[in-house]
Amino acid sequence: MKKSITTICTALMIMILSSGMALAGNGRVGNFPKAVNHGIGGGDGVAVLAYEEPDAEEIAALSYMVEEEKLARDVYNALYETWSIPVFANIAQAEQKHMDAIISLLNKYGLENPALLAAGSFVNNDLQTLYNNLLAAGKINEEEALLVGATIEDVDIFDLNHDLELVDNADITKVFENLRRGSENHLRAFSALLTLSGYAPYAAQFLTQDEIDEILAAPRSNGNGRNNSVNSDFATRQRRLIDADGDGVCDFLQQ
Ligand code: MN
Ligand code: MN
Repeated sequence: MKKSITTICTALMIMILSSGMALAGNGRVGNFPKAVNHGIGGGDGVAVLAYEEPDAEEIAALSYMVEEEKLARDVYNALYETWSIPVFANIAQAEQKHMDAIISLLNKYGLENPALLAAGSFVNNDLQTLYNNLLAAGKINEEEALLVGATIEDVDIFDLNHDLELVDNADITKVFENLRRGSENHLRAFSALLTLSGYAPYAAQFLTQDEIDEILAAPRSNGNGRNNSVNSDFATRQRRLIDADGDGVCDFLQQ
């Protein structure tokens, strides 16, 4: 079974080429003290955007989301250890980049980074509970593992939608929109793996089913625009759909 899911990489390439529990509102980490040092800024062009003193909601959103990205990374790394399905290793790398993007903002504004604990450990109790539950489910079998992946992306998009309503800093908005695009790609990947493996399609748990369906019907997006049209940027997308770095793992999920 592991092997069949691994080889689905090829099927996914062909397919792609041819074609609640309001976590965000509950149990926020809270406000971390603002340090005097504004830090050196970060990647993704965020550092060049204006320094706008974040308000309490923005600070809470950054503190929560950096740990939520850590949750995704830690769950995917653990499930890769368990099942050796490449999608988990690939997406875990993307989640590290998502964490780094938020940490750049925390540094820019001299805010404490709560996501410094060991893998599987969280400052926020809700996220700790969610991690424990998701990892236990993901270890049951490969179908549950893929469902856990889709669930995490569902939660992530739900929370980012919520936070994007609250924030007005241009740099935070830019980072959160990038993270949401990544999550939409990840949701499409987990959903496709479920379907191609012969399992039931993912059913919405946090977003509405209509929102999930709309995301699944959309083409893969990149960090530069909301969505690529089907025919645009074909060479770039094609590069992503192959083993670009020669490590024997399909890289189409990396961004
Ligand atoms: Mn993410
Ligand atoms: Mn993700």
